[in-house]
Amino acid sequence: MIKKLIGRVFSGKLFKSRGKPSAHVIVFKDHGVAREQLSACALSVTDTLQAKGYAAFVVGGAVRDLLLKRTPKDFDVATSATPEEVRGLFRRSRIIGRRFQIVHVMCGRETVEVSTFRAGHDTSGNDGGAASADGNAKGKTDEHGRILRDNVFGNQQQDATRRDLSINALFYDPSTQQVHDYHGGVKDLRERRLRMIGDPTQRYREDPVRMLRAVRFAAALDFEIDPATRKPIRELADLLSNVPPARLFDEMLKLLLSGHAVETVKRLRNDGLHGGLLPLLDVILEQPLGERFVMLALKNTDLRIRGEKGVSPAFLFATLLWHEVLAAWKSIEAGGIPVIPALFKAMDQVMQMQAEKLAIPRRFGGDMKDIWALQPRFEQRSGRRPHRLLETPRFRAGYDFLLLRCESGELDAEIGEWWTKFQDADANERERMLMPDSGPKKRRRRRKPRAGDTAPASSEPDA
Ligand code: ATP
Ligand code: MG
Repeated sequence: MIKKLIGRVFSGKLFKSRGKPSAHVIVFKDHGVAREQLSACALSVTDTLQAKGYAAFVVGGAVRDLLLKRTPKDFDVATSATPEEVRGLFRRSRIIGRRFQIVHVMCGRETVEVSTFRAGHDTSGNDGGAASADGNAKGKTDEHGRILRDNVFGNQQQDATRRDLSINALFYDPSTQQVHDYHGGVKDLRERRLRMIGDPTQRYREDPVRMLRAVRFAAALDFEIDPATRKPIRELADLLSNVPPARLFDEMLKLLLSGHAVETVKRLRNDGLHGGLLPLLDVILEQPLGERFVMLALKNTDLRIRGEKGVSPAFLFATLLWHEVLAAWKSIEAGGIPVIPALFKAMDQVMQMQAEKLAIPRRFGGDMKDIWALQPRFEQRSGRRPHRLLETPRFRAGYDFLLLRCESGELDAEIGEWWTKFQDADANERERMLMPDSGPKKRRRRRKPRAGDTAPASSEPDA
């Protein structure tokens, strides 16, 4: 049981390093996590490395989750072997990453991330003669203290210290079934507390994404952030704007797809972090309709993820930016541009703004625009148009989106109900449901095709 987890301190020659505190070692009978609870791939990776004489531990989220009796999402391994040495031991493996080199080892459909013990950047300026993967004695930082390169190898104790939160710095040795804890992570787990290792301000300066991670884990685990860890967040929030957009996007996706997006966004707002996350999201969240719409979309996503149903990131981003598109659409239309071209212009404008800061991958951009471009077509409920709309490949996503618009109060609920009924109706019933043509009652004149009629010719290819 976690209650009994505060293990005895081993004098541990093995774990002592340069006079620094050694690890608390918690034995199996005090934590109850058996090696069989690891994935086959994680076991095979650690067993192989250990058989070759390297140190190898399961680390990070998997240990945290197993101690909390949760099912780990994936497994990370930390080892004394260098990336090249790891690469040499596993046929199906590859080295990835620049800022931080790791090795992906694949077994069947599973991938285990293997990282070499790293020396942190706050270890008294002395890396103990650690080997360096990039030829520099130290990783480089930018003018705000953000670490640009982090490939200085170190020992296990240094590796624990460079990790973010104490609960993420626990090492599990599958051969002895012991947990090594250098930073009081087990106590923090037991007390449901998130605590940054070292000086929080400095750690956030080194990597501002750690602020987002702290809030994400707080929401997902329902933990409290320790006051000293929480306090600097508000004033350092702006540092997020220095994080490369692609990294911010990855982190954003993680938190939106965590199954706890509503709770995370609430906490991000409380800590003043939402602004840097999705530029303009703060503006949206301040308008009652925008806020209702975004929160509804997140709630739906959380439910789907917890129900193990798939979610489409493109759909989610389309919802997050919809009220931006709406605002731009209205203002372009007010300038005298017809409704459909105005919508397309608005979509491009919003995507452009986001691209600069957030790097939403192009493949999502195409899908997002498709969903938006379908929206005016739901308002056409006469003639053959509703039938044609039902047959477009993105109908389902467009319809789900429409329902959210209705539910948020942006559109009359009646239109969503009409489409729900229309889909299930038989041919006769559908004919009865059609609305009279609202246009001038001229005799059948062939209408010029309109932009909204076909799959949108988005200016950004769907890669
Ligand atoms: P998840 O359940 O989301 O995978 P995780 O804690 O395993 O949670 P990962 O992103 O997989 O998160 O990272 C694995 C481990 O690497 C973390 O537990 C932590 O020890 C360390 N780590 C990850 N990101 C950072 C960071 N920005 N700064 C310091 N350490 C980090
Ligand atoms: Mg992980």
